[in-house]
This record gives sequence, structure tokens and C-alpha cells, in this order.
Amino acid sequence: MNLNNDNKYVSSLLQDIQSESRDIALMEVCGTHTMAIAKSGIRNLMPGNLKLLSGPGCPVCVTAQGDIDAVIDLAERPGITLVTFGDMMRVPGNNSSLQEARSRGADVRVAYSPLDALAIARQNRRLEVVFLGIGFETTAPVVAVTVEQARREGLKNFSVFSLHKAVPPALEVIFADPAIKVDGLICPGHVSIVIGLKPYLSLAVKYHQPCVVTGFETRDILEGIVMLLQQIRKGEAQAQIQYKRVVKPEGNRVAQETIKRVFRPVGARWRGLGFIENSGLEFNREYEDWDARRKFDIPEYEDIPIKGCACGQVLRGRITPPACPLFGRPCTPLNPVGPCMVSHEGACAAYYRYRIT
Ligand code: SF4
Repeated sequence: MNLNNDNKYVSSLLQDIQSESRDIALMEVCGTHTMAIAKSGIRNLMPGNLKLLSGPGCPVCVTAQGDIDAVIDLAERPGITLVTFGDMMRVPGNNSSLQEARSRGADVRVAYSPLDALAIARQNRRLEVVFLGIGFETTAPVVAVTVEQARREGLKNFSVFSLHKAVPPALEVIFADPAIKVDGLICPGHVSIVIGLKPYLSLAVKYHQPCVVTGFETRDILEGIVMLLQQIRKGEAQAQIQYKRVVKPEGNRVAQETIKRVFRPVGARWRGLGFIENSGLEFNREYEDWDARRKFDIPEYEDIPIKGCACGQVLRGRITPPACPLFGRPCTPLNPVGPCMVSHEGACAAYYRYRIT
């Protein structure tokens, strides 16, 4: 398709969306979508009766406050080297952050991959290297492969603090909440590469919710919205894939099997959504030696919410970030009060950065 035809096609998608007259709320449940929608200005192109809500799509943001506090305390234990993705460094705990812990002398390092953490452990056998496993189904396979490699090498000074989350159980909580009006779901592109369409099929039927797995280009997102509107107009609730060039209905079976070899589902706490059955991952018995929670006897910390922060409400789609009284003053990306303003996938950061009101 040449550029002119592409522009015409995008215009036709917009026309279709703008012709919608009913009150409709669509939710995106992927932080990358949240940022892409904010950056492209798509929200401003929607008619006033069509709302785009952000959901629990940022893994850093949904990590429970008690788990954040546990991570920071672990980092400050003598002899621990904590390796994490950069987004976690400035997430506020109740007393501190990993960045502040590092300034006090804790050995906290930023990595792009769990394999970097494994390399640190391999090269420094006297360090106890803990990788902070935060992420959805997209991150879990890489972490699983890393743990398998550690096992093969017999690297016992490496472990993972698994705070991984599975997306579909959280969607069920959103759909079951009578206080949240969602008419359709813009489903995550990256997570769906791994999990495929099957989890959305049952959700679509059970809650009569149209679900469309969508890509990240402006055109993808508009096309995904049109596909949702077409279902809503017909009174249908199907799970469909817009992002067909990447996502297969069956997902990535190799990645699914890799996760299953190393982890099993377990209940987990989410910020804003509470405890959700089968939404976390803990180590299978043969990999327990690499489970930091077990190895360092990390207790369950109480979830003490950050005073005034409405991240929990934002993650449920009950409010948009500007409705938080702290948005913009004092909470900014330079001075974040909650994780949704820290993470590059956080809804508050997206709204602030792109001046969405
Ligand atoms: Fe929390 Fe800040 Fe977002 Fe308010 S604006 S919900 S304080 S991160």
C-alpha cells in the first residue's frame, strides 16, 4: 500500500470511529499501548462519547506495594547483589526506593536481560546475585530459560525473586467489577504473542466482552478499535486478532512450554486489584534452589498503600490519571509519588508526558 492509500485507509478508520454515537468505553491492557495511544494523539481523535481507558498493563505498576518494600529490604541485606530492569529503580517503597538503597551502599545493578544477571553471578562466584523477575508472560520465558541455564551450570549463587504476573486472571477481575464499565478490550500485542487467543475466547464468552489483540502502530490501534466497534454494533463478543502479522491464535507453544517447565501458577497480589488466584508464577520443585523467596526466607510484607496515590484506581480503569489529586503537583516523572508515574509504561507518566487532560 502506498502512502496516499495508507492515509486514505487511516482516514476511513477514523471516519468509522467518529460516526459512533453510543457511549462506549474501551480499555487497553498493555503499557506499550498506553504509551502509543498517548504519543500518537489517538485519544484526542475519539468522539466525546468514546472513552479509551488504561488498565493493569504495566508490570512495574501492578507490583504490590508490599512486594516493592520486600525487594528494597532484600537489596539492603549484606552480601546481596540485586539486578533489575531500570524501571524499578525509582519506584517508591514506603520508606525508600532501590535508587536510594543504592546510594546508601546496597549493590543494586540495572540490566536489560536476566542473562546479564546470570553473567554477573558466573563471573563473581562470591556474590549472591538475585534477579528481580517482574513482567508478564512476555518476560517469564526468558527468565525461565535463564534459570534452566543456571541449573545446567550448577550456578548456586544466582536466584530469581519471582513477581511475574499473568494477564488473563487480572482481566477477569476487571470484567467482574460492576463499578467498571468496559465495552471492549484492546488486548496486549506482546503478551498475546506468547499466550495466543485462547484465554480471551473464554473471557469474551463468559463476560460478553469483545476482545481484539492489537498491534502498536497508529493504524493498528485504529483498526483494533474499529474491529471492537463492529462487534459492539452487532451485539457480538468474540476474541479476534488484528495483529495477525505477529500473533498466532495458538500463541508461542515453545515459550508456553518453557514457562511450564520452570514455573507453576500461584495466587499473587496486584496493586489495585488485590489477591488474584493463579495470576503469579512460583518455581517448580526442581528449580526451587533458584527461588530467592525460599533461599533468603523473604516474608510476605503487608501492603501499605502510598498516602494519596491513586494508582490502584488508575490500574482498574476507575479513574484517569488527571483525576488523581496529586497528578502534576506534586507527582511528576521527576518526583514520582507512585509507580504509574515512574514506569515508561505507566498511565500517569503517559498522560503527564503527552499533556493529556
Ligand atoms: Fe499515583 Fe502519581 Fe498517578 Fe496519582 S498521579 S495515581 S500519585 S502515580
